[in-house]
Amino acid sequence: MLELTGVSHVYPNGTRALSDVTLSIPKGMFGLLGPNGAGKSTLMRTIACLQAPTAGSIRFGDIDVLAEPDRLRRTLGYLPQDFGVYPRISAYQMLDHMAVLKGVNNAKDRKEVVEHLLGQTNLWAVRGKAIAGFSGGMRQRFGIAQALIGDPQLIIVDEPTAGLDPEERNRFLNLLAGIGENVVVILSTHIVDDVADLCPRMAVLAQGRVQLEGPPRDLIRSIDGRVWQRTVPHTQLAEMQERHEVISHRFFAGEIVVHVLSDTQPEGFAPVVGGLEDVYFTTLAETRRPVAAAAA
Ligand code: ADP
Repeated sequence: MLELTGVSHVYPNGTRALSDVTLSIPKGMFGLLGPNGAGKSTLMRTIACLQAPTAGSIRFGDIDVLAEPDRLRRTLGYLPQDFGVYPRISAYQMLDHMAVLKGVNNAKDRKEVVEHLLGQTNLWAVRGKAIAGFSGGMRQRFGIAQALIGDPQLIIVDEPTAGLDPEERNRFLNLLAGIGENVVVILSTHIVDDVADLCPRMAVLAQGRVQLEGPPRDLIRSIDGRVWQRTVPHTQLAEMQERHEVISHRFFAGEIVVHVLSDTQPEGFAPVVGGLEDVYFTTLAETRRPVAAAAA
């Protein structure tokens, strides 16, 4: 169990990236969903001991993370957002090198670990190829392979599916799903489907604050009976937004499918079972509202 209590972070330039984040993250996949600039990477780097928060405390099991960063690092697997590129070095060599850095000193053990991870991440066939030539999906799978060295109990993956095509994304999510339920895996993302597909628990982070937390199924239930749908010509979107609380819209066959939030049925709309996307956009709309009112 990872416990964050009152974690805040203010950058030296005055940007408040995190405000009083309190979260209990159990074993299994946990989705941290939020738009760009929400503070996700700041939170991930803080948990990974790459930067200290300006306030708050973090515990992982019996480890006081801020006081004992070395203990945490030994049990941490981290795939940062901007995972570096290693030109001309093969996946095998790089993984072997990283295993040395992580303290797998015995050559026989290391061979076993490296070969197992290359198999697990489906990179065995390209183990001799330079990582520089890898596709985005292969690089991310390599990123997971290096994060898994040394059997970490806490795994952090920061925006791993951004830029992957649908097939690569599926492959990557399958790989994450297979990591197991006995470790804490935090998946930070701005893609609702990543969380909906994989995570039994989640939180929405926006403007540096936890806006919502719980199992996706319960969160979806919380908007039951309040989401309505209508398909209109795309020229009517602005009018819809003016007249209703539009929480999402998507293009479909040249028209727009609009979802609105309302306690009563708006004229021309049909009830629809809301999804996590509706929950997410409702939450974001609500967090923006006080700011808009203050600015007006
Ligand atoms: P996310 O990962 O959700 O996109 P970030 O944690 O990267 O969010 O950023 C949160 C906020 O902190 C943003 O306003 C961003 O501009 C700001 N920020 C991030 N890193 C720094 C930094 N090193 N110095 C100053 N501000 C930063």
